Amino acid sequence: NGTPAAELNGFERIFGVETEYGVAVTGTSGARGPVDAGQVAMTMFQPVVSRARSTNTYLDNGSRLYLDVGSHPEYATAEARDPLDALAQDMAGERIMASLAAQAQERLRASHGDHAAIHVFKNNVDSAGHAFGCHENYLVRRIVPLETIERQLLPFLITRQLYTGAGRFTPDGTGFQLTQRADFLDEAVSSATTRSRPMVNTRDEPHADPESFRRLHVIIGDSNRSHWATWMKLAVTHLVLCVIEDAVRRGTPSGFEDLAFDDPAAANRAVSRWLDGGAGADAGTAGAGSDVADPAGALAMQRRYLGVVESFVRDHADAMNASLPKTPVTLVLDHWRWVLDALERRDIAELSKRVDWAAKYRLAEALRRRRPDVGFAQLERMELDYHDVANGRLYGSLVSHGQLDEAVDPALTVAGAGSGTGAEAADPRHTPPQDTRAALRGAFVRRALDAGVQFSCDWTTLVVSSPVRREATLLDPFSAEPTPEYRALMAQIGN
Ligand code: ATP
Ligand code: MG
Ligand code: MG
Repeated sequence: NGTPAAELNGFERIFGVETEYGVAVTGTSGARGPVDAGQVAMTMFQPVVSRARSTNTYLDNGSRLYLDVGSHPEYATAEARDPLDALAQDMAGERIMASLAAQAQERLRASHGDHAAIHVFKNNVDSAGHAFGCHENYLVRRIVPLETIERQLLPFLITRQLYTGAGRFTPDGTGFQLTQRADFLDEAVSSATTRSRPMVNTRDEPHADPESFRRLHVIIGDSNRSHWATWMKLAVTHLVLCVIEDAVRRGTPSGFEDLAFDDPAAANRAVSRWLDGGAGADAGTAGAGSDVADPAGALAMQRRYLGVVESFVRDHADAMNASLPKTPVTLVLDHWRWVLDALERRDIAELSKRVDWAAKYRLAEALRRRRPDVGFAQLERMELDYHDVANGRLYGSLVSHGQLDEAVDPALTVAGAGSGTGAEAADPRHTPPQDTRAALRGAFVRRALDAGVQFSCDWTTLVVSSPVRREATLLDPFSAEPTPEYRALMAQIGN
């Protein structure tokens, strides 16, 4: 059957976000001693295991919930056609983790006392210095060579951290980095053969027709609490990918040819140290002559990308608007200009309404004004609270005091996010995006759970293993149309 021409030639995209969480326990010391984070993660997953007979399962919203060995539960969103839907699914993941933690905490308190608390951190570094990830997934047309993506997209991804970074207080107590993982990616880079690869994973698993598509697997980014940041990073990256895909299709220059960094890892570290003027990092220079070690360089790089994308959107207005079903493309450009202008002015107060690192930085400044001798331990406590989706208070309090905007934009609503119209919006914890194959997967999982039959999934396959084994393949991520095979599978499990 092959891939429909519209999908192959258009600018439609599939988005997915994988988030690994960190787990910790407090308040159990004393007679019974501390509890291991790995044990707590297993306790959190007990309800999952009893339902799915596995720590790796798919939910009725089409997403994947997973616990590998260790203590980093992961939630991978169902396939979305719009960054707003991917955001709604990612928020659902936060809430699912929070409720697993609440149930486990209740059990823990019965044995370890009323002060026992389970923390689930949506961040990327734990106190032992281990880094873990937030992966962005983008469906990209196969005609685009991987080298082109890396050369033309990586400088964008590195400088994008100026507004998508989640921020990190460094253990020396004075330093602040815009991103959580710049130092860790450096380690990964040094052990790899091709230096830029670890920022973009090159494993070829398209979860779609491999003749037509790749799945671009971006691992350079931070986990975000800011809804705006999650939406924005997906939306702007989409726009840059559209320019690259179109140029390859036409065999014309994209305008991003001369932007590659000599040393991406050093550039990434320099951007992360942007507030110190990139001090201490030798970034090397891009071909364009912009030097990210110079704080103006990273911004100039973003403005180069913005300029090319703006004129591309002008020239392809209809196709670009059609590429995202919910997010108006011109609104993304408005937000992009807004954030670059605020960065240029170093307007931390303005940035802190939407940018995670700025929100944390501003809190630290306020703390320092009250207590000039504030040390790293306090900053770290504050930081962990900001990232804790189970017992944290700080993020919610910033939102309720109007210091951090929960809404991505006043003109947009996110299903299930609490703000806006809300009532008629379906709960994304149980509702998949309706315009991708996730809708089929979600309905399958729902029916299999209701019928109590044994089932399993991956992104392209649905399997029932009892009473007789039957499976259905969903190779087209864009299609929410039941195939005959899917109908037969659904018929086997019930009414
Ligand atoms: P790992 O956890 O080892 O990195 P992984 O990245 O291969 O594994 P998952 O954790 O299962 O895989 O997450 C896959 C993500 O890719 C999901 O968010 C999913 O929605 C998304 N996705 C699925 N199919 C596609 C596709 N064809 N194009 C882009 N994204 C996709
Ligand atoms: Mg994953
Ligand atoms: Mg991944």
